[in-house]
Amino acid sequence: MPIALAGPPPRRTRQARVRWGSRVVTVGDDAPVRIQSMTNTDTVDAIGTAIQVKELAQAGSEMVRITVNTPEAAQAVPHVREQLDRMGIDVPLVGDFHYNGHRLLTEYPDCAQALSKYRINPGNVGKGDKRDRQFGMMIEAAARWDKAVRIGVNWGSLDQELLATLMDANSRRAQPWDARQVMYEALITSAIDSAKLAESMGLAGEQIILSCKVSGVQDLIAVYRELARRCDYALHLGLTEAGMGTKGTVASSAALAILLQEGIGDTIRVSLTPQPGEARTQEVVVASEILQALGLRVFVPSVTACPGCGRTTSTTFQELAKQIDDYLRAQMPLWRARYPGVEGMKVAVMGCIVNGPGESKHADIGISLPGTGEAPAAPVFIDGEKAMTLRGERIAEEFQVIVDNYVARRYGSATA
Ligand code: SF4
Repeated sequence: MPIALAGPPPRRTRQARVRWGSRVVTVGDDAPVRIQSMTNTDTVDAIGTAIQVKELAQAGSEMVRITVNTPEAAQAVPHVREQLDRMGIDVPLVGDFHYNGHRLLTEYPDCAQALSKYRINPGNVGKGDKRDRQFGMMIEAAARWDKAVRIGVNWGSLDQELLATLMDANSRRAQPWDARQVMYEALITSAIDSAKLAESMGLAGEQIILSCKVSGVQDLIAVYRELARRCDYALHLGLTEAGMGTKGTVASSAALAILLQEGIGDTIRVSLTPQPGEARTQEVVVASEILQALGLRVFVPSVTACPGCGRTTSTTFQELAKQIDDYLRAQMPLWRARYPGVEGMKVAVMGCIVNGPGESKHADIGISLPGTGEAPAAPVFIDGEKAMTLRGERIAEEFQVIVDNYVARRYGSATA
């Protein structure tokens, strides 16, 4: 028996559609796993917000969420949309509402129309008998303007009344559950009950996307496995407050990879805290790298580079690998339109003769730099064959030109 091919099982969620103008982003079922992101600008600053949305969209975010927390922010939303439309950025905008979303969506119809999706947090829509009425006002706006909603539960703002009810019920069990299990139950119950309530109020199941975000990797896996088992709504996946830098990147990658490999998750967000001076777009880069590493999406040509070892004591190959990686990413906005399929290209930049030629032959185009003590020559392999050997001080520049020519020759013909 051959070993089974790797890959997640097909997803079986309902497909939601998030629209702006003629742009339709499908979410769920057999649609690609989508990337989302969120701005950290003050939405009242419509120009600044539009610029950041544009940056996130150009980095690969397929939906961008913006904060809508005040009447001023709600008034600014249509201006953000206008700016984006003027710049030719048709990425759907998602409004993030807490506490007063029912009022803002009702009192500012231009805001409600300019958004493509509303994020509703069931823990923050109101208490007691106000809860269902205020939730209903938001659902009514979504139904009226034909918008998708994400019912986004978060353990940091969990519906406390529901949690207390479940805790009481748990205390009456002969063998009470662990408090963490009760919390999982509350998250899932809040999301699914809210979705069912929204459907009973007139919203189609295909307009609903669910999320239950927590900040622990194992908690997220446990919650989403159960959420996926209990419902077929499209699911938005993400570790909330993942943290900064390497920690946030690794935690998000670990959690999302396990779930995505099980066929769970229709959209993702990597909630990274930017390091001082770091671009907001880093969260989109990490999200796209996760999907690309899992083989679920292809966004940019991949650069295979060896880690280096005692056989290569100079930094030449590290510099070349970085230079080529940066170059390929920088070219993508132009290449994506001009050279269809180029995102699937594989480039290898290797440090010595041990694995250099072999890895380069597996790539579409590869270069094997000389290790310590080797002859100062860098063979270049194209489509598995040795094509030429570079020497001297300008290897990096010459290799870049070879890559450019390869791209134009191989992918340019697709547009002819
Ligand atoms: S290819 Fe050469 S330099 Fe790179 S890790 Fe392997 S042995 Fe070391």
